[in-house]
Amino acid sequence: MDNLRRLGERLSIPITPDEDGFIGRECPQLDCGGYFKIELGTGLKGEGLPCHCPYCGHTAGLDKFATKEQIEYATSVAMREITDAVHEDLKKMEFEHKPKGAFGIGFSLKVKPGRPIPIHYYREKQLETEVVCSNCTLRYSVYGVFAFCPDCGQHNSLQILDKNLEVVDKMLDLAEDVETELAERLIENALEDCVSSFDGFGHELCRVYKEKAADPAKADKASFQNLNRAKLTIRRMFHVDLSADLTADEWRSAVRAFQKRHLIAHKMGVVDQDYITKTGDIQAVTGRKVSLGTDEVRRLVQIISKLAQSLSSDLQEAGKNP
Ligand SMILES: [Zn+2]
Ligand SMILES: [Zn+2]
Repeated sequence: MDNLRRLGERLSIPITPDEDGFIGRECPQLDCGGYFKIELGTGLKGEGLPCHCPYCGHTAGLDKFATKEQIEYATSVAMREITDAVHEDLKKMEFEHKPKGAFGIGFSLKVKPGRPIPIHYYREKQLETEVVCSNCTLRYSVYGVFAFCPDCGQHNSLQILDKNLEVVDKMLDLAEDVETELAERLIENALEDCVSSFDGFGHELCRVYKEKAADPAKADKASFQNLNRAKLTIRRMFHVDLSADLTADEWRSAVRAFQKRHLIAHKMGVVDQDYITKTGDIQAVTGRKVSLGTDEVRRLVQIISKLAQSLSSDLQEAGKNP
């Protein structure tokens, strides 16, 4: 049985990357099973590093993250190699003894080729967001947008927010070069994107850290479109002060910009008493259009960046020192 013996005790079936250089992975946690892809050779260096599921954060050895298709493929390739080896070995044992005499009985062993074991080929799936981790440089791709880095475990929420805020800055650059009407629309859209990026960011952080929240079931539903309300929610849920790292003036500016976005989104940008009460904006007049300049939105981008940094580290630390 030379051929079979040559296969050894362990068969190693290589898994080849897809056309973008990615290898598919699947979370072994039963209630998750999330599919994602990583590029080998990027990210952390070293043997036996654990892998983190980008969706649920589950951590285990990289070998536990093979996809069902990869396992089926590897099993079929292994079965094919084993049956081929056995076939070759049997072939060598072929013999034929002719019958002797009138009543003799002959024996023979002929090994005929059987139907080969089919190989279960597979294709990796197309995913939605490609990320290069800002911490460890792993290149990975996921469904949706937010994820933990499969190598170092760092969540990409700040990275995604930064990317979105960069686009906001570019929209504002554009607004400075076009006619008034278009410029106004661009500035309004930049403000809207700023607020919705922060809303998505805050929402995701609450989801990631919901186990630390006073009421985990409600933590997922936190909204960040209204800063004063978000501040109350964060205090109630995590005993963290959202505005702690901002100056009073920065916080006031941010609240005013968020309220302007509310007016633009829901009141055609026309000032009402509610806006004046919530912002204390002394320049605003009820019934008139609210003013909004690029400088104001640029300032908001900076404040949001600062706010996001501190919220991220505060929630990470939350609950550690009661
Ligand atoms: Zn998972
Ligand atoms: Zn990383």
